[in-house]
Amino acid sequence: MINTTRLLETFLDLVRIDSPSGEEDKISQELAARLRHLGLDVQTDALHNIVARRQGNGEPLLLMAHMDTVMPGRGIKPVTRDGVVYSDGTTILGADDKSGIAVILEVLHVLREEAADSPPLEVVISAQEETGLIGIKGLDATGLESKIGVSFDAGDAPGTIVVTAPSHNILSAVVHGKAAHAGAEPENGVNAIVVAAQAVTAMPLGRIDEETTANIGTIHGGLARNIVPDRVELLGEARSLQEAKLEAQTTKMVEALQSAAKRQGATVDIDVQRAYNGYYLTEGDRTVARLMAACRALGIEPRLVPTGGGSDVNILNALGKQVVNLSTGMASVHTVEEHVAVSDMAACAEIVLEFVRQSR
Ligand SMILES: [Zn+2]
Repeated sequence: MINTTRLLETFLDLVRIDSPSGEEDKISQELAARLRHLGLDVQTDALHNIVARRQGNGEPLLLMAHMDTVMPGRGIKPVTRDGVVYSDGTTILGADDKSGIAVILEVLHVLREEAADSPPLEVVISAQEETGLIGIKGLDATGLESKIGVSFDAGDAPGTIVVTAPSHNILSAVVHGKAAHAGAEPENGVNAIVVAAQAVTAMPLGRIDEETTANIGTIHGGLARNIVPDRVELLGEARSLQEAKLEAQTTKMVEALQSAAKRQGATVDIDVQRAYNGYYLTEGDRTVARLMAACRALGIEPRLVPTGGGSDVNILNALGKQVVNLSTGMASVHTVEEHVAVSDMAACAEIVLEFVRQSR
């Protein structure tokens, strides 16, 4: 049986430990100690990622979450009101993703208490997720045997399963114009800000269609009021659930920059990188089907949803594993209004326990 009081206590303990991305030393040590206490074999790496294993019989399952949190996230003081945990309003809460870690630890507690037979479990708790999936990208995943698994880095009602996420391109561009005195000889200059402005207004941006989005997020350039600016830097991105749409959108952004530069007699350096690949699962896929069955066994109607964001799951699916995100109930994440209902975390833990039991 899931012990809601213990689950809540674990969660409160974890959010009280500061763990901004890049400063995971302390939380990683605490989690390693807890996992060892629960009988798991624990390994950590230089990034403070944790891989822990519980022996068992049957097909191995992966359970994963991330240990780092966004800012403002130091000195978090959780406040529980009517079964919902909030911060004191000056920081985030850190339910993203310590609600996921608390769920995993509670499931391991129950399995140990019941001396229950389970399939082999591989628990991955990554560092530096929020700053670009750095921990999971640096993790040596070659030793992971699980082909299927569940991550706990999503919100919404219990039973919500994130089954698709977009591929994501990041674009960096530098427009090179030509500097000149703005009053004495402007005709000798090439204004890089004008080039950037023309390029950005020519690009389709925002919501392109149901599956595709694009953004120019920052623009920096110019030295002084009276100098024709010779350099502007732009940072942008595009995401889509469909590879072909992502390529088409990225090409439009690149071409807008190139043609504006050409028109104005400037040049532009453009760098496009794949931040991560998307994934696209349906109820026909094993992980999804089994999670849905676990939900229904508990009387919870599962709901399959897409997301516009990336997570560690993108990286593992690209490695050929089949992992989905299951809601822990976390809400308003990355804001000081972040909160989570204890009953939602408990429901999530029940689903996972059922998933594990059905897999043995
Ligand atoms: Zn997260």
